[in-house]
Amino acid sequence: MAEQVRNELARASVPIRPSRILDVAKFLEPFTPFKEAPASLVQLLVGQGHALPEDLDDQLAHRGFALPEKRLRTAAPIPTGPIVIDGFLTFTPAELAFIENVAAQTPVTVTLPDWPGSSSARNRLLKNGFTERGAGPCPAAGFSRRPNQTVFAAPTLDREVEQIALRILEHHARSRDFREMGILLRMRDPYAPALERTLARFGIPARFHFARALTSHPAIQYITGIVRSLLTGWDHADLLTLLRMPINGLGATPEGDRVDFAMRDRLPAAGLTGLEPLLSASQQFRDLTSIDPWKRDRLTPADWAARLKTLRSLIPTPDRTDLQIWRSTTAVLDAFDTALDTTALALDNTKIPLGAFWPNAEVAIRIEKFRAPDRRHNVVHVLDVCEAYHPEFRIAFVPGLTERYFSKQEDRFLFELATTRATDETILSYPRFTDKGDAILRSFFLEEEAEPSGSTRFLPKPVGQGHALPNPAPLQIQHATLSPTSIESFLQCPFQFFAAKTLELRKRPLKPRDRLDVLLQGSILHQALAEGAFDPAFEQACQKHNIPRGYRTEAVRLELLRHFEAFQADRQWPLAWPSRTEQKFVIALTPELSINGRIDRLVVGPHHQAIVIDYKFSPAARVRDRAKVQGGLYLLAAERFFNLEPAGMFYCSLREPISWDGWHADIPGLALGESCTPSALRELMMVAEQQAIETHESIVSGNKEVRPADPVKCRYCDYKNICRIETISRATAAPSHP
Ligand code: SF4
Repeated sequence: MAEQVRNELARASVPIRPSRILDVAKFLEPFTPFKEAPASLVQLLVGQGHALPEDLDDQLAHRGFALPEKRLRTAAPIPTGPIVIDGFLTFTPAELAFIENVAAQTPVTVTLPDWPGSSSARNRLLKNGFTERGAGPCPAAGFSRRPNQTVFAAPTLDREVEQIALRILEHHARSRDFREMGILLRMRDPYAPALERTLARFGIPARFHFARALTSHPAIQYITGIVRSLLTGWDHADLLTLLRMPINGLGATPEGDRVDFAMRDRLPAAGLTGLEPLLSASQQFRDLTSIDPWKRDRLTPADWAARLKTLRSLIPTPDRTDLQIWRSTTAVLDAFDTALDTTALALDNTKIPLGAFWPNAEVAIRIEKFRAPDRRHNVVHVLDVCEAYHPEFRIAFVPGLTERYFSKQEDRFLFELATTRATDETILSYPRFTDKGDAILRSFFLEEEAEPSGSTRFLPKPVGQGHALPNPAPLQIQHATLSPTSIESFLQCPFQFFAAKTLELRKRPLKPRDRLDVLLQGSILHQALAEGAFDPAFEQACQKHNIPRGYRTEAVRLELLRHFEAFQADRQWPLAWPSRTEQKFVIALTPELSINGRIDRLVVGPHHQAIVIDYKFSPAARVRDRAKVQGGLYLLAAERFFNLEPAGMFYCSLREPISWDGWHADIPGLALGESCTPSALRELMMVAEQQAIETHESIVSGNKEVRPADPVKCRYCDYKNICRIETISRATAAPSHP
């Protein structure tokens, strides 16, 4: 508020030095030996057992601090020039005593609004020699002003904030400066964070006149997280969260993504040694190794504070082209230093380990607040209604007019204050429903129900990554060889293929407890069947994927073993022909396209007949709809790569009870699957070949349509969060206009 008054007086050319406009804490400084006790110091002392008022007072005084009331009581003002005390709604008894004390030595003018809440303070001042002079220059004069008033009701708080942003832009388009508009809040939460997000999204410069918690800033979250991680042995899961933060210079970069994936693959893990192969070349690793020995040291609190202040070097200096980010980072790091100094002040001057100092520092850091300096002029001001005593705007927005924020008698005064701060127009608003859909009561200060606002949603513009994607090789070269599975992926959805095979996007590695998923279970069974033994295949997979031992792992192991044993005991396959497992192949379909793959089992008859068997770890019911393309291509491989006579294609579902399905060219003694003619098998091969060639043509022509052949399968797709299929479905469902 002091700053607002300085600006206002400067604009009005009132000849007064800006340094003469002070808040009470600063004004008191020359008159008292005590500095104002920070809330964090009080909290730390109370936490140490100094909770009794006298004891707390002594502890604070011992350190040169006092609570505001004691500072007022002990202040010994000396005669100065005339003093104006302005911007208060009322005063505490200690403040009134101090005002009277000052007034005994120098002329004092006090402004108070004309509302019931200030009457006791006014009466006491009048009783003690003050005289009343009426409204005059008091901002309460504005109370009689009646600017145009509009009220709107939005469906939810987010929509309400969007509507405010839109109206600001409309006024700005009509040549109204941003600085002529203000948003007045009854309290910081929940509107300030929503406004901060939305105004930034709409590109509206705004200045928030609220102190923010230190812990809300990513620089502090990163530094405190690193110290906690140091004290708990560098758990990689915690470190991962920290290293992904853009504030450290590594997060949100391609290198950061690489480190992230590699670390996830190795979870669970702890300690810096395991990080060396992944991070050794990075500044972040050098930072971590340099502070690692701290956990063994014992220092005095002051020395710990000094040492921990060096952690600001973990945050790369922000780019000065974005002054606001630079200023806010500097301000928050300065406040971090202050919190450390306060912690050192609160503790005894004995040598302690970091583990004893840090919990106290965290208490101080949690309590401390900071204000990022903001010297921009043409900005929308967002401030507390109580602080709107002085500023006047051409347009004032007052959101959140609900029973929750504007209901009590004292809120009536703030309502009056808020609705008379604008010279041209006041725009009042409230949300009609909570996020859960519960109805919200409007404030009874609003006489009528407001008109519902427009229902159009304004979604954020898509933003590009800061770094370019690697230049993909020409599609003809990149996709000169396809596997049957890739072809099936394209046939299911071109975008799925594009994301997986062209962009080669990898799914983020799963958490350790989720790694033994159906895909891995299937591949363990494949491996076990190829090797003829289950335990080595399972052990190998657990080691390779760092799967934690536990109840779930054992339960999955037993289930897979049951499937494996069921397959071993299965006697449905009647032929005693020899077979080969895991047979790799490559065949050229055209000069531009080859197909490669691996056949799970190739059964070879006495006259060079080939029966291809593909194991599936899916329920029996889903085996039959497995694409025929894959079967046709495997038969082509049997003919063209293995020089055999295609005689049958079978799928075997490995889930108990074991089931078989497929096609064969009327092989005597083979009662499984469907018997067909050799020409039907040949047709299966030709259709598959043709489909593979057409698919390849479509791929190299750049088709990456979001078009799932079976939308049910979208549920299991790794790219469902980026293809935006939901927007496409809506667009398709929208009625067409005549
Ligand atoms: S979720 Fe469906 S539409 Fe989206 S990429 Fe996957 S298959 Fe295609």
